[in-house]
Amino acid sequence: MMSTTTHAIHNFSAGPCILPQSVLQQASDAVRDLDGNGLSLIEMSHRSKPFVAIMEEARQLVRTELGLPDHYEVLFLQGGASLGFLTAAMNFLPEGGSMDYAVTGTWAKNALKEAKLVGQAQALTSSEETGFDRIPALPATSSADFVHITTNNTIFGTQYAGDPVMDKPIVADMSSDIFSRPIDVEKYACIYAGAQKNMGPAGTVLYIYDKNQIGKTGRTIPSYLDLAVHADKDSMFNTPPVFAVYTSMLTLRWLRDNGGVAAAQERNAAKAACIYGEIDRNPLFQGFADVASRSVMNATFTAVDDANTADFLSACEAAGVSGIKGHRSVGGFRASMYNALPLESVEVLVEVMREFERTHG
Ligand SMILES: *Cc1c(COP(=O)(O)O)cnc(C)c1O
Repeated sequence: MMSTTTHAIHNFSAGPCILPQSVLQQASDAVRDLDGNGLSLIEMSHRSKPFVAIMEEARQLVRTELGLPDHYEVLFLQGGASLGFLTAAMNFLPEGGSMDYAVTGTWAKNALKEAKLVGQAQALTSSEETGFDRIPALPATSSADFVHITTNNTIFGTQYAGDPVMDKPIVADMSSDIFSRPIDVEKYACIYAGAQKNMGPAGTVLYIYDKNQIGKTGRTIPSYLDLAVHADKDSMFNTPPVFAVYTSMLTLRWLRDNGGVAAAQERNAAKAACIYGEIDRNPLFQGFADVASRSVMNATFTAVDDANTADFLSACEAAGVSGIKGHRSVGGFRASMYNALPLESVEVLVEVMREFERTHG
């Protein structure tokens, strides 16, 4: 029997994460037969006409949904954001120059670690001393060539309130908040984002960069890490991750058909207001992140009495609220509310918290 389940499970997973039901349906159909071609998406050549069209549509949707100027390039590569840490440094950190890093969490720290293998890189600011519970203010000026930021800190639940105001071009890991809101792309020399947080399944990473700011490092870059090599081949230097690109393309169509990033921002703000309102009201819970730095995507919170933690996780499970356990480095709970998560799921979680107060308060 065909499953007609809508959201029996409320999926708060931090990543890989919830995708729109319609996207899952179309993606699974395409695995059997892509658009009536008689061939599966994953058994046809990536050089075939249908797949070339898919790659082009995916890249084009990124352009239109983010309003990219013509001098920005769009690529779908592999290696996740973790290879992006190295790739970004390889392509932007000049020989003899330097790159500043805002160290706001585990991923930011990892990014800096990789950059140090490439050249001169250092922390510009850090919130490590307070357990990464906030976004430290960026100075307006930096003496480095580029400044690297992590726009949303998935593990700690902190996020920049908007595009940073700096006198240097920004290189940004946007893995967990890309397409969650409009951005002023001209502030960024390069944006990279693993697909599996807000765009699609694991297996591809999106790169967006200013073509005028590339090719200036003076360094020889291995082919796969050289963004210009990929751009020259229209993101088909080697076999692309066809399923991940196709499913990301479907999610981008869904985003477009639902009002784009501006409407996503409104829906995300409503979801965040709902959960944070309850975290602040309910005496049994407390927020982890500093209020001014709270993430719209990942709300981190803990039980005031740690003895309640296991019980609350059981209560969530019983209500179909899935993926709520906090990252091991923070503990407690994390509600990830990516684009595809409906407000109703957040309302169910809030109801579980209220009921928990009635039974455990
Ligand atoms: C998940 C995540 C990463 C790591 O992504 P991979 O694709 O697994 O390498 C990097 N940065 C941020 C902000 C993330 O949320």
